Amino acid sequence: MELIQTPAARQAADPRTDLVGMNLDEIVAVAASLGQPAYRGKQIYQWIYQHGLTDFADMTNLCTALRDRLTAEFRIGRPAINTALLSTDGTRKWLLGFGDHNEAEMVSIPEKTRGTLCVSSQVGCTLTCAFCHTGTQRLVRNLTAGEVVGQVMLARDEYGLWPASKGNIQLTNIVMMGMGEPLYNFDNVAKALHIVMDGDGLAMSRRKVTLSTSGVVPGIQRCSDELGVMLAISLHAVRDDLRDRLVPINRKYPLAELLEACRNYGAASNARRITFEYVMLKDVNDSVADAREMVRLLAGIPAKVNLIPFNPWPGTEFECSSGNAIARFADAVHEGGLVGTVRSPRGRDIFAACGQLKSDSVRPRRVAAAE
Ligand code: SAH
Ligand code: SF4
Repeated sequence: MELIQTPAARQAADPRTDLVGMNLDEIVAVAASLGQPAYRGKQIYQWIYQHGLTDFADMTNLCTALRDRLTAEFRIGRPAINTALLSTDGTRKWLLGFGDHNEAEMVSIPEKTRGTLCVSSQVGCTLTCAFCHTGTQRLVRNLTAGEVVGQVMLARDEYGLWPASKGNIQLTNIVMMGMGEPLYNFDNVAKALHIVMDGDGLAMSRRKVTLSTSGVVPGIQRCSDELGVMLAISLHAVRDDLRDRLVPINRKYPLAELLEACRNYGAASNARRITFEYVMLKDVNDSVADAREMVRLLAGIPAKVNLIPFNPWPGTEFECSSGNAIARFADAVHEGGLVGTVRSPRGRDIFAACGQLKSDSVRPRRVAAAE
């Protein structure tokens, strides 16, 4: 009988060490272990992250013996594409498979003048925000640094965007807004984003990278100190009682603490303006009084408000606010002097819009100790 292997299964069966996810120091160490000087390690690093090579044989400035040795012991991997969907509005969604058969989703949102890639940080999510489809899936595991940076590299493969320094409009921005809470997987996400922002790596400006958090307060300071990327906060409610229900992490880090952390985020300059995401839920958080309270709460923070029409999913108790309610809310936000935009839903037909991502990966039951 012939065994049909999926690409993800083939990867799992590959015993070679994957170099994707290693930073420069680690690749220099790999080169050293093969008796090579540091500059060789840097060349390999640049071939991988700047040029997107997946085959050591193409690394023309390395001698053939070294290329062969690298091929025997190492690989340059990518997440496998298990499903690819294209929306009528041009949004693409990929269901990605990782070596252990877990899956996560990645979305690309092309616009006229820019292209945004929405990257996942975890398979599932530990948090259970009431309006989020991902939140109905338990956390299966954190993604590794290689699996996070590998998503960006795979998107470049798909669009043919190598070398990374080449100008393009298909992939100008990265948002850590896919599945999972990135600040609960900080080390791996930070390592991946350092490679994304490294001039010898994927060479993206930190101003083009946004990390979205539901409000993990201790992680916000680390994000500022260690990454300096743009920050987005999933606010969604302006009163603790409601936010406790909608974004349960609020019970641990209530609004006052969250907004204090935002005030301290980097220098309070417009360059570091924080985006506050606010999902519009009919008759739940969409009154003009809520908008005025938002203006009061955000006073003194360089803020930009992003109103997100709720994207429904099967089984949800919520409905999206009416167009009128969203317009009234946006007007009140503007009258209060805040910059605000309404996010147009993208990719709803392929279930790729904010909060609609979910994979079928489940956490295996823990095997009883006696077994
Ligand atoms: N876990 C992180 C990042 C992923 S979610 C976070 O919560 O910030 C990306 C954004 O989509 C968040 O603001 C999230 O609250 C929002 N979102 C979740 N479910 C949604 C839905 N059904 N409709 C619209 N936006 C949603
Ligand atoms: Fe997790 Fe973010 Fe969804 Fe909340 S909104 S459940 S933090 S992915």
